[in-house]
Amino acid sequence: MSDPLAREDPPELRLDALSKVYPGQREAAVSEVSLTLPGGRMLALLGPSGCGKTTTLRMIAGLVKPTGGRVLLAGDDLTRTPVHRRGMGMVFQSYALFPHLDVARNVAFGLEMRNVGKAERRKRVAEALDLVRLGHLASRRVGQLSGGQQQRVALARAMVVRPALLLLDEPLSNLDAKLREAMRDEIRELQRAARVTTVFVTHDQDEALSMADTVAVMSEGEVAQVGAPEEIYERPATRFVADFIGRANLLTGTVVAQRDGVAEVAVEGCGTLRARADGPVSGEVTVLLRPHRLSLLPAGTAASADADRLSGTVESASYTGGLISYRVRLGDRRVSVEQLTGSGPAWAPGSEIDVTWPVADARVLAA
Ligand code: ATP
Repeated sequence: MSDPLAREDPPELRLDALSKVYPGQREAAVSEVSLTLPGGRMLALLGPSGCGKTTTLRMIAGLVKPTGGRVLLAGDDLTRTPVHRRGMGMVFQSYALFPHLDVARNVAFGLEMRNVGKAERRKRVAEALDLVRLGHLASRRVGQLSGGQQQRVALARAMVVRPALLLLDEPLSNLDAKLREAMRDEIRELQRAARVTTVFVTHDQDEALSMADTVAVMSEGEVAQVGAPEEIYERPATRFVADFIGRANLLTGTVVAQRDGVAEVAVEGCGTLRARADGPVSGEVTVLLRPHRLSLLPAGTAASADADRLSGTVESASYTGGLISYRVRLGDRRVSVEQLTGSGPAWAPGSEIDVTWPVADARVLAA
C-alpha cells in the first residue's frame, strides 16, 4: 500500500451486548448491542433521533462508561481502557478545532499530546494534510477556512495519530447539501485508502447507504438490523427498517396462500397481491412495495406471469425533475409510485390505471 497512513492489518471491532442506562433513567439508552465490524471496514450507526447512536459511539470511544457489555478491538477488551489509551481518532459534529491556531498546529495537536518529536511531527502533519488535500493551507488560521475545509482539518487531525479506529459523529451535518455529497465521497476514499476501521453516526439514510460497508439500523436503543446497504434496503427485517430506509409503501394484510417463495396476501379494501416471502409466513403480515419498483399501465393491459397488479386511480402527480411521483388510490388504500421522467406516458389525475410490479420486487415482512 503506497499511502503512508495505510494500515497493513487493521483491527476488527466487536461490540458484545453493549448497554447503557444513564443514571436516574429507567429505560436503557442502549440495550445489548452486539455486532462485528471486520478490520478496515466502515460501519454506519443509523437511526432516528434518540435511538442511542451517539451513546454507542461514545462508549466505543471511552467517553461514556457502559453499564453492561464489552468493546473489543482486535480481540482485546478495551472496556476499561481510558480514552487516551484506546488509539482512536475522533471527529465531532462541531469539529472542536482551535480557531486561533493555524491548520498545521491544529493537526499537530494530538501528536504534541503524545510527545512526538518535532521532525516526526512535521512529517506526519504534512502526510495528513496531503491526505485531505490541504497542504497549501497549512499556515492559514482555522477561523479563516470554509466549512468543508474545517471538516477536512478535523479529519486530518483524527488521522494524524494513525488511529486504530476512526470515529465520526454526524461528520457532515454542518455542511450544505452539495458539499455534503462531495465530502461523502472524500471521506469514503480517504477511509478506503487508509484502511482504517471506522464507525460513523448519522440519521441520514442516503449517507449511511452510500458510505458504509455495514449499516446498523437502531431503534429505541436496540439494533433492528445489521447488514450491507443492499441487504438492508432490499431485505429489511422489519417494518421499522423498511420505513426508515428509503421510501416505502407498506400494506398490511393476511396470508391466504404460499408456494415457491411467493405469498398471496389479502389486503382489506384493496385486493389480493403476490409478493416474495423468504421463509414460511402466516397470519397478519406487511407487504413492502418500493415506489420506484411500481409501474403504471393502462387499465386492463395483459400482465406477464412474473408480475402482479392491482387496479386503481391516479389521484395526483408531482414533477420533481428526474422523477414523477404519483399518488394512486387502490380501493381504500393509497400508494406512491415513482417513474423516471420520460420512461412512460404522464398520467393525469383521474386516470384509471393498473399498478404493476415484478412479484420478486415486493416483499412480505414478518409482523
Ligand atoms: P440524536 O440523533 O438526537 O443525537 P442519538 O440516536 O444519538 O440521538 P443518544 O444521544 O445516544 O441518541 O441518546 C439516547 C437516549 O439516551 C435518549 O433518550 C437520550 O435522551 C438519552 N440520553 C443521552 N445522553 C444522556 C445523559 N447524559 N443522561 C441521560 N440521558 C441521556
